[in-house]
Amino acid sequence: MTEHDRALSSVLDTVGNTPLVCVQAGPADVSIYAKLESFNPGASVKDRIGAYMLERLLERGDVGEGGTVVEPTAGNTGIGFAVAAQQLGLDAVFVVPERFSLEKQQLMRALGAEVINTPTDDGMGGAIDRAHELADELDDAVVPQQFSNPLNTEAHYETTGPEIYDALDEVGAVVAGCGTAGTLMGIARYAREQNPDTYVAAVEPEGSLYGEFLGEDRSEGEYKIEGIGTHNTDTNELFEPELVDDIYPIPDEHAHEELARLAAEEGHLVGSSAGAASVAARHVATQIADGEIDAPHDSVVTVFPDSSERYLSKGIYGSFEEWSG
Ligand code: PMP
Repeated sequence: MTEHDRALSSVLDTVGNTPLVCVQAGPADVSIYAKLESFNPGASVKDRIGAYMLERLLERGDVGEGGTVVEPTAGNTGIGFAVAAQQLGLDAVFVVPERFSLEKQQLMRALGAEVINTPTDDGMGGAIDRAHELADELDDAVVPQQFSNPLNTEAHYETTGPEIYDALDEVGAVVAGCGTAGTLMGIARYAREQNPDTYVAAVEPEGSLYGEFLGEDRSEGEYKIEGIGTHNTDTNELFEPELVDDIYPIPDEHAHEELARLAAEEGHLVGSSAGAASVAARHVATQIADGEIDAPHDSVVTVFPDSSERYLSKGIYGSFEEWSG
């Protein structure tokens, strides 16, 4: 657990214990709080699984000190794993589809990792296949497999969930974006143990197929929101439909408008997945206020996974056309 009131020996000791801050635009009677994950040393929620998963994999002997971690990632996971790998004495290789932000790839390299790009058209599935091929070629390598490894969910069950309940006595609803779904599943499992009636909502970009897990119709399409969503639910092995009440598809334009509003009105410099999470959290809060959702308490917790600074080269604060074009 992070302690900010004493000197620390490594940035790894600063992972987690991020602030939980009110989203002020919510309805009068229902509070919304966001966990600000850009306060982590690698500036995203993924530092949590970097530290947690690599420590467990080393403990279990799945990889030895001096070995290599190979992971397919949209970027933030690479940064989180790169920080942890460096501090724990591991080499790191990341396989990143080309479309993801250049800032992230520069940061991974700065942290000492090797970055290998795969074609955008091959999607995350192509990156996953390439990571396994690379690991097979190395002597002592492990693929943590954030998309299927229960340690991903466990990291959030052990850290993010308890931190939320340390900061807040009563949580009515949990709303979070799903990339691997580790963040939402870990928090949701912990939340349902505190109160089985806690309302849980997943967030995905419009054009993503997570809704199919709940039997909803979805038509696949491209989206610009980065870090959440899926084009192939077979790769999202951590998603547990029984822990989720609803899945909200958020259009790129709404997420973009909201991330700009969060900066202009509330001082939050957050990425597009946080914009989408905020739109959905406000929607859930309004539904609770209107009696359309029966939540056990008048509060909604969401997660802002990373910072807008990671997307300045993509024109995140330009017009919608500039950002999405
Ligand atoms: N937002 C961003 C910016 C991310 O990088 C990720 C991780 N892919 C997420 C949200 C979703 O987190 P999770 O993988 O735990 O569902």
